[in-house]
Amino acid sequence: MTQKKEELQRSIECCMCGDFGLHSELFQCKICQFRSQHRYCSNVYPKAESYQECNWCLSQKDDIKERSQNSSNSTSSNKTNSGGRRRRRYSS
Ligand SMILES: [Zn+2]
Ligand SMILES: [Zn+2]
Repeated sequence: MTQKKEELQRSIECCMCGDFGLHSELFQCKICQFRSQHRYCSNVYPKAESYQECNWCLSQKDDIKERSQNSSNSTSSNKTNSGGRRRRRYSS
C-alpha cells in the first residue's frame, strides 16, 4: 500500500522540457539545488564539459556578468553623469 517510490521518481523532472526523458542525463543544479535538468537541455550543451547548473541559474549569472561589465562602479543606480539632463538656460 505504500507507493511513495513513484512519487519520488516523479519529482525528478527536467526544469527545461518538463519531461523525465533520459534519467541518466539528468543532473541536479548545484546552485539552486532543487532543479534538475537534462544535460542536453542545457544552454551550454555540448560545449561544457561538466553540467552543474540549470539554465535558470546560468542565465542569472549571465545577467550579473553583463551588469558588472557595463557599470564599473557599483553606483549604477543613478545615472547623473553629465549626459542625461541638461540644465536649462534661462532664455529670456
Ligand atoms: Zn530536458
Ligand atoms: Zn539552478
